[in-house]
Amino acid sequence: MFAEIDPPQRLLMGPGPVNAYPRVLRAMSADLLGQFDPEMTGYMNETMALYRGVFQTQNRWTFVIDGTARAGIEAALVSLTEPGAKVLIVRSGRFGLLLTEICERLGADYVTVDADWGQVVPFDRIAQAARAHRPQVIAAIHGDTSTTMAQPLDSLGELCREIGALSYVDATATLGGMSVPVDAWGADIVTAGLQKCLGGPSGSAPITISDRAAEFIFARRHTEKGIRASDATDGNRARIGSNYFDLAMIMDYWSEKRLNHHTEATSMLYAARECARIALQEGLEARFARHELAGRAVVAGARAIGLAVYGDDAHRMTNVTGIFIPDAIDGETIRRRMREDFEIEIGTAFGPLAGKIWRIGAMGYNARKHKVLITLGALEGCLRAEGFAARSGVDAALEMYEASHA
Ligand SMILES: *Cc1c(COP(=O)(O)O)cnc(C)c1O
Repeated sequence: MFAEIDPPQRLLMGPGPVNAYPRVLRAMSADLLGQFDPEMTGYMNETMALYRGVFQTQNRWTFVIDGTARAGIEAALVSLTEPGAKVLIVRSGRFGLLLTEICERLGADYVTVDADWGQVVPFDRIAQAARAHRPQVIAAIHGDTSTTMAQPLDSLGELCREIGALSYVDATATLGGMSVPVDAWGADIVTAGLQKCLGGPSGSAPITISDRAAEFIFARRHTEKGIRASDATDGNRARIGSNYFDLAMIMDYWSEKRLNHHTEATSMLYAARECARIALQEGLEARFARHELAGRAVVAGARAIGLAVYGDDAHRMTNVTGIFIPDAIDGETIRRRMREDFEIEIGTAFGPLAGKIWRIGAMGYNARKHKVLITLGALEGCLRAEGFAARSGVDAALEMYEASHA
């Protein structure tokens, strides 16, 4: 017999997943309900209302997709992108590459507008590419955790309306930690996950969909016999190439019609609902400030230790920081020491940044003073143990907190 699951109490200070709020874990242990039980559909409706708050939107179609954040990305792209559709992808990191990979599978005719890793794409370059290529969809990542950069998206909606495109934004790493003002951006579909700044486990993907995107998606709905539904507005829309991620079917399931699709993942719904309740109870502004302060403290602490911080300071995500691994130090040895000696996990990096930077996250339940200070203290200890002349980072981070009276 294997032993009962009894994991060590690790402090997860990487780019996600992070430790869940205990309230979320408690909500997940509540009793199960049938999927059409009025209590259950009531919780589903409450979850829709709560995420309108979290996404700063009035969008009727705001709910969760069952699956990790990638399920939300895939549902959005498969539902928005017809085979052969022109898509413009804004890329400067690993998750931008993921959008490309999915669009390729969907048979989209995509073009990309790129920035080097560690930078963001200036908005005028996005506008230029959009006017040149006239895409039907513009897809972007808000915070790309692989590079720790936050892409400005303020004028995205305006640009899309000018050229008649719909937009998709992956805000997995920022929702609940940095402002994701869906309506102010005028974004059409925005998706996220729970395991970053929302402080839940992975496995549920909050999504919000504008009315005009919903109309487009419903026009791709076909009846069971393959005949176009009478409410389709466009005679020539291709059927959505996925059943599980068919947003028209999923919206019908979340509507008053409650048309059966999947079985809503009950315990994950409880988790998503509690994550949103916690976020709104704290208040979005207070929450953004808490993440911003934690991020500034990590940056100040790392620099005080004598480490260089990765990427463009002007566009840094507040909730995850890239830190260069010093020359004579093996990054994995430090990560192992952090885990074995201090029960702390920090992140590695991917692609061109593998072996070059660590990523330290301070997200959701973990974006707090003591967790930031403990992590910096452990990091300087591990660095000294490996022969690097680390100075104190804790003092600088503590000063940051004291100056802000947090
Ligand atoms: C972490 C992250 C994801 C993760 O997707 P999962 O399917 O939940 O692993 C997606 N996009 C971005 C920008 C992320 O930071």
